Amino acid sequence: MTRPPRGSKARGMSDQPPLQLFNSLTRRLEPFEPVHEGEARVYTCGPTVYNYPHIGNMRAYVFADVLGRTLSWRGYALRHVINITDVGHLTDDADAGEDKLEKAAAGSGKSIWDIAAHYTEAFKADIAALKIREPAQWSVATDYIEPMIEFAKSIADEHCYELEGGLYFDVSTVKDYGRLARAVTEEGEGRIEAVEGKRNAADFAIWRKTPPGETRQMEWDSPWGKGAPGWHLECSVMGEKLLGFPFDIHTGGIDHREIHHPNEIAQNQAFCGCGSLDEATHSGAKIWMHNNFLVERSGKMSKSSGEFLRLQLLIDRGYHPVAYRMMCLQAHYRSELEFSWEGLGAALTRLKRMVMAVDRLREETAGDPAHPKLAEARTRFAAAMADDLNTAVALVALEDVLAIKKIDGGVKRAAVEEMDRVLGLDIFSLERADLRIQPKEKMHINAEAIDSRLAARRQLRSLGQYEEADEVREELYRDGIVIMDGDPLGWEWKLQ
Ligand code: AMP
Ligand code: ZN
Repeated sequence: MTRPPRGSKARGMSDQPPLQLFNSLTRRLEPFEPVHEGEARVYTCGPTVYNYPHIGNMRAYVFADVLGRTLSWRGYALRHVINITDVGHLTDDADAGEDKLEKAAAGSGKSIWDIAAHYTEAFKADIAALKIREPAQWSVATDYIEPMIEFAKSIADEHCYELEGGLYFDVSTVKDYGRLARAVTEEGEGRIEAVEGKRNAADFAIWRKTPPGETRQMEWDSPWGKGAPGWHLECSVMGEKLLGFPFDIHTGGIDHREIHHPNEIAQNQAFCGCGSLDEATHSGAKIWMHNNFLVERSGKMSKSSGEFLRLQLLIDRGYHPVAYRMMCLQAHYRSELEFSWEGLGAALTRLKRMVMAVDRLREETAGDPAHPKLAEARTRFAAAMADDLNTAVALVALEDVLAIKKIDGGVKRAAVEEMDRVLGLDIFSLERADLRIQPKEKMHINAEAIDSRLAARRQLRSLGQYEEADEVREELYRDGIVIMDGDPLGWEWKLQ
C-alpha cells in the first residue's frame, strides 16, 4: 500500500488500492509515488497550433484529464501543465521539413501570431466542450525563448555541435539514447532527410538557424545565430521551468514515444548531468505515459486526408461532444480505438441512459444508506481506476450504482457525483434536451414547432380522433421527423 498523502481530504483514501500506472520507459506497471509528498506534477505535450485539432488529438487530452482527475480524487494537489507549441514543430517529427506554423502562414495573408491565436482558441473550445479541466498552467513556447537559449547554452559544450543549419545534439553523448522508443532502426527512428555533417543519424537540431538571405516571422538572436528553437527543446525547458526535474508524470500520444520524447529525455539527461536511464528519474520525469491512437477504418487519422474529423463536425452531425468523451472512456487509453459513426451513436445512447438515470436521482427517495451493493460498486470503481486508469470497467461500476434500488437517494447521489468527478462526463450538468443536437443540415427544423404539433396530436388522440392524429404523424414524417411512441429512452421524436 502506498501511504496516502498527508492532509488528504479525499474520502476513503486510506482504503484505496495503490495507484498503478504503466511507465513506457520501464515498460511495466508501477505504483505512483510522488516526488513531492502530497503533490502530483504532470506535464502534457500540447497541440501545435497551425490547424484545428482532430478528435484523435483530443483523445490525448481526455486521457491526461482522466489521469489528473484521478490524482486529484486520490488527494494529491495536482500541478498540471499543457504547453502550446507555436514555433519549432517541423512538418516531419524528425529533423526535416518546414516549421508547421511558418508554412501555414505563408500565403495565408495572416501573421503567425494570428494563426497561433486562432487555433489556440479553437483548441481551448474543444477542451471545454469535452469537459477537460483547464490545466493549472498553459505554457506558450514563444514565452520561453530566453530560458530555452540558456538551457541550450548549458549543454552545448558537452553535448552539441554546430552545423550550417544550427546547433545539433549528439545523441551518443548520453546513455541509453532511444530506450523509450519501440521502432528504433539502424538509421534512427525513420529519419528521412540526411543532414550533411551529422554525427549520428538520430542527432537533432536544438536550435535552427534561419537560412542566409531568409527572414522568418518568428526568429530570435542566439549565440548560434538568428533562428528558432527545436521543438524538443521547448518541452524540456517548459517542463524543467514549471515543474522542476524530476517531476512525476509526462504524457503524450504514442507517436511521441518514438522521436519527440526520446529527444526530450536526451536533453534532460544532458541538463541534469545524469547517467543511465536504469534510474527513470534521470529522464526528467518518473513516469512516461502514452495514449494509443484513435484510428479511422481506413487507417491513420489525418488533418489533410479524407474527412477531417473535428469535434465541430461531430456536433454538426448531431452528436453531443460528451458522447465522444464517453467513446474514449469505453476503451482503455493504451488500446487503439477505431472511430465509427455507429460507435459514436452507441456512446451517445449510453450517455442518454445515464443522464436519464441521473434525472431520476432528483426525486428524493428513502432507503438503505449503507446498501451493500453500493460498497461493492465503489470498491470495484476504485480498483478499476487504480489499475492503470481502467475507465471501461469504472464506467460499468458507475452504471451499477445508478441502478441500485431501495437505497437512500442522497447517499446514491453523492456516490455518483464522486465517480463522475473522476470520469468527467459531467452528467449532472446535462439535461436530456441538451443531448438532442440538430444536425446542421436539418437546422431549418424548429423544435418548438414540432413540440406544439405533437401536443396537438396528443390532444386529437385523447379525443379519439385517431385519423386526424395519424394525419399529423404523416405530415411530420414528410418534414423529416419520426414520432417515437413508446421509446424506452423517452424521446418523443427523432430526425429521419
Ligand atoms: P500535435 O498537435 O500533432 O502535436 O498532437 C497533439 C497530441 O495528439 C499529441 O499528444 C499526439 O501524440 C496526439 N495524437 C495525434 N494523433 C492522434 C490520434 N490519432 N489519436 C490519439 N492521439 C493522437
Ligand atoms: Zn512535447
